Amino acid sequence: MHELRKDILLGRWVAVLSESKLPSEYPKIPFEEPVEENCVFCEGRENETPSEITSIRKAGTSPNTAGWWIRDLPSFNPVFRVEGELGRRGVGIYDKMNSIGANEIIVESPYHDKRPEDMGLEQMIRLVKMYRDRISDLEKDTRLRYILIYKDSGRCAGQQYTHPLTFLMATPVIPKVVKDELDNAKQYFAYKERCIFCDIINEELRTGERIVYETKNFIAFCPFAAQFPFEIWIIPRRHSCSFTEITVEETEDFGLILMTVLKKLRQVLNEPPFNYFIHTAPNMVPRRNHWHTLGEDFHWHLEIIPRIIRTSGFEWGSGLYILPTSPENAAKFLREVG
Ligand SMILES: [Zn+2]
Ligand SMILES: [Zn+2]
Ligand SMILES: [Zn+2]
Repeated sequence: MHELRKDILLGRWVAVLSESKLPSEYPKIPFEEPVEENCVFCEGRENETPSEITSIRKAGTSPNTAGWWIRDLPSFNPVFRVEGELGRRGVGIYDKMNSIGANEIIVESPYHDKRPEDMGLEQMIRLVKMYRDRISDLEKDTRLRYILIYKDSGRCAGQQYTHPLTFLMATPVIPKVVKDELDNAKQYFAYKERCIFCDIINEELRTGERIVYETKNFIAFCPFAAQFPFEIWIIPRRHSCSFTEITVEETEDFGLILMTVLKKLRQVLNEPPFNYFIHTAPNMVPRRNHWHTLGEDFHWHLEIIPRIIRTSGFEWGSGLYILPTSPENAAKFLREVG
């Protein structure tokens, strides 16, 4: 018998099939990186990109020249722009506003063919520091409500360039997916006086069957009612609502667990297309009173979504997803490699 499971955070049901598919049974979705013969993200072509916002570079090198490890650039075709007013207004019964915000591109590696996880821990730590610094910096802009760090890997995961990149999108509204998590975590806290994420961590450590990898400060696990097969969450053991609160030690540890988990995923599923994103607290500066419980009830995390199945009208129409591999089996495959 197949099984329905309820996601405790979002209240969403998923169907877990009883006979778990092996990783090798998924049709291979070609990774299909876009062909890029003329990549301006590579080291040595700094003058062909928009001027960098910031970078982590070798001592003695100047901005917009070679010698960097990580570069942060404004997007070439931004949907959100920094200049201007929010201009909130109503049109009939509808609401509108200007697309104030920021789109940035974090170049993860100076080398076209070398991903940060293949360059070693030092590079991963630099990347994590860049994520933290960009969120901290953009949070000073009180017009911005949310800063989302995300990655697209593989064409069917939305990847546009071959060079290893992470994207940042700062928006004047809190995205719906994040708002649902915030609202439901708040409700759970009001009822139980405990953080729902801390409860999930305790439960996952208690059973252990969905744990993929553990470090001193983080755990990686396949969620009990994941939306996609081989979905993985990485979450700090210490209760903390904002990624910007990450300590120096945690930064190193987060680099380690992210690197390890990405390598495991690539090994188990043979270079799958995937997305990842960080869910951190919204920008609390503009509406401090609105978020007075957030420090207690929200807990930042990173979600990795392999794009190995295609969604049908059933998923779109119902919001009920089917997991051909159970989270327990997915975690087992991931634990066993690497
Ligand atoms: Zn390149
Ligand atoms: Zn917590
Ligand atoms: Zn989340």
